[in-house]
Amino acid sequence: MTHKTALVLGAGGFIGGHLVKRLRREGFWVRGVDLKAHEYSETQADDFAIGDLREQDFVRSVIDRRFDEVYQLAADMGGAGYIFTGENDADIMHNSATINLNVLETCRRRTIKRVFYSSSACMYPEHNQLDPDNPNCAEDSAYPANPDSEYGWEKLFSERLYLAYNRNHGMQNRVARYHNIFGPEGTWDGGKEKAPAALCRKVATTANGGKIEVWGDGKQTRSFLYIDECLEGTIRLLRSDFQGPVNIGSEEMVTINHLADMVIGIAGKDLRVSNIPGPLGVRGRNSDNRLIRKMLGWAPSRTLQAGLERTYTWINTQVEKRHNSKRT
Ligand code: NAD
Repeated sequence: MTHKTALVLGAGGFIGGHLVKRLRREGFWVRGVDLKAHEYSETQADDFAIGDLREQDFVRSVIDRRFDEVYQLAADMGGAGYIFTGENDADIMHNSATINLNVLETCRRRTIKRVFYSSSACMYPEHNQLDPDNPNCAEDSAYPANPDSEYGWEKLFSERLYLAYNRNHGMQNRVARYHNIFGPEGTWDGGKEKAPAALCRKVATTANGGKIEVWGDGKQTRSFLYIDECLEGTIRLLRSDFQGPVNIGSEEMVTINHLADMVIGIAGKDLRVSNIPGPLGVRGRNSDNRLIRKMLGWAPSRTLQAGLERTYTWINTQVEKRHNSKRT
């Protein structure tokens, strides 16, 4: 029996690591590629190439055949503490754009027709996200463009690149705009972690009666999508007739202070929230799932609570492991 083949770029990262597992479960032969091995679990990829996708020769060496499915998730990215401070702007734009330019052109030369590209809700205009109760993230609100970060501008450029290859080179690339994906086996410390993981870590490491710090006034709103549903949407989009761009996110919008309270509740701890200045991003953001429902006949439906419970359990275990290893 010949297996279908898949290429996952960014397989050493959070979403890519989970995607490799999912595709292996479906019976694919999978090649993973990343700058680094996965931090939290041994890869299940049949073949894992470590190298830099900014290097054309390396890209040509890993895209050496017509894979049945290609997922391009590699990017220079992180949470608010990485993408909103301004200190990493040149790297973010240069590194991610170079990866996308290299990967897409190499796929075209290999006559690979279809590449999945993970854009981000960060490409939506800031002026539509000033009201925390009524953010507008409908796909057609993207223009006139005005993302609030260089990370968002690079995503917008690359979205357009993938769609330009569809128009000019007969490709069928698929573009999704992810909204805050979270779950186990994601970055939870070190400065690149995002709000759910950072809050889980703070709650797990703070003793009863203490306080955890939350950036901003905590009234900024977001929605968070659990990893399994992100993968479901990703795979459905790649295999569909719809090119996107389309949101893959949750419509369950919460304030960051509420998110902190949910994590505290899951941990069963007695903690206070202390709001402090910090890098923030837009005031409000929520996924708008009308288009995905219409085009794919599917949209995420799991509750935030269920995903947070699993994520907290995993991060709490990581915290305990680290604590124990320091003692021995
Ligand atoms: P991640 O940082 O965990 O994974 C990205 C991976 O890309 C990392 O393992 C990194 O080492 C790899 N990479 C970076 N530069 C590379 C290079 N030059 N060569 C090879 N590999 C390189 O991030 P993630 O959360 O898994 O996100 C995956 C994709 O989804 C990214 O494109 C990201 O921008 C997008 N996205 C994620 C979210 C989210 O909430 N996680 C939201 C919107 C968009």
